[in-house]
Amino acid sequence: MKSLLLSSLLFASAALGTRVPGANGKITYDGYKAFRIHTGENEALVKELVESLPEAIKFNMDTAEHLDLVVPPKELKAFEALNLDSVVIYEDLGADIRAEGDFATYETTAARAVPSLTWFNSYHAYADHVTFFNDLAGAFPSNSEIFTVGQSLQGRDIFGIHLWGSGGKGSKPAVYFHGTVHAREWISAKVVEYVTYQLLVNYSTDAAVKAILDKYDFYILPFVNPDGFVYTQTTNRLWRKNRQTRSGSSCVGTDINRNWPYKWELTNGASTNPCDETYKGQAAGDTPENKALVAFTKTLVASKGIKLYIDWHSYGNYILTPYGYSCSATPSNNARQLELARGLNTRIQQSYGTRHTVGGACSTLYATTGDSTDYLTDVSKAEFAWTIELRPGSGTSNGFVLPAAQILPSGVEQWEGMKYLLATM
Ligand SMILES: [Zn+2]
Repeated sequence: MKSLLLSSLLFASAALGTRVPGANGKITYDGYKAFRIHTGENEALVKELVESLPEAIKFNMDTAEHLDLVVPPKELKAFEALNLDSVVIYEDLGADIRAEGDFATYETTAARAVPSLTWFNSYHAYADHVTFFNDLAGAFPSNSEIFTVGQSLQGRDIFGIHLWGSGGKGSKPAVYFHGTVHAREWISAKVVEYVTYQLLVNYSTDAAVKAILDKYDFYILPFVNPDGFVYTQTTNRLWRKNRQTRSGSSCVGTDINRNWPYKWELTNGASTNPCDETYKGQAAGDTPENKALVAFTKTLVASKGIKLYIDWHSYGNYILTPYGYSCSATPSNNARQLELARGLNTRIQQSYGTRHTVGGACSTLYATTGDSTDYLTDVSKAEFAWTIELRPGSGTSNGFVLPAAQILPSGVEQWEGMKYLLATM
């Protein structure tokens, strides 16, 4: 079974490589239909059956309850013949990608005014995200500034915004956010932007927000994989990794969240095949992005230490505590971690009823090695280092391509949760 799964991953990746781009070089996914297939006790059988569709794309790795499968037009008949217990989650993925790609134009001002909340009504081009952050920092110069931790493989700045309160710049323990390490998880950047926006806009008028920002320095990096994100906008909406090539392989990309130099050498939670979506690299920390992130993380540790780290992802609605590398090991403050994570889940639910599954990353989802949260926990000694998987959850009809109408509710519910967590931890 293991070799069968491995070969299927190879097929899926090869298929991604040969998919024919449209006239502008962009893969359209027109006519691709996606299904949420019930697995449960038939998990192994379902996975085996879908091997007969070599060009179908598996969206999720947490397949205990369901497998989300994107089926190209030419394999739809074969899929239907399998007669699996499934519901449609995209009638036509290409149409949803086109709708999502209807970006609003972002209007900056010379005066660096506070951006309008309409920012959260649509997705945006990468260059506009950069301008948005420059405008935010420009509008709140006493509480924020833009910083850069290094460059991506293709030379883009990996930038962040630093927020601080009444103690002055760099005087408090760090709250540290990463967004969009997986390029196709667009909602993670938007939610990180919403939280940043609310912290800054409400600092002078909301006592609870002021108390939070007076207690911590925030270091918020919305795009730790900028090359991958740009590639999702120019070429392939479903791209996940960075854009690094490797000698001896025609496949592109390393999973930056399997490349951190801690437990990287273990064999159970990442791939050694450059064609796979979870390719770990040739050596621990050998991506330019990871090198920059590790160096910056060390400066936070050496300064005031890290209270909370969150790696923002999508999708599935999970709040994941350490560890990824082991399903039995737990951090020393595990009971407190779970208590806070459950409290966060309760608070998030109060906005729109969105429920998150809470638990250890490996035991709840699947094993991951060389991931950021394990590094932040054991090497950086962050008190809390979590992964949050945003919308959609298992009950709704979407995957990585989340309708723009869900940006604002995603931001609102996570902001409400963050206000609880940051005030309570
Ligand atoms: Zn992810």
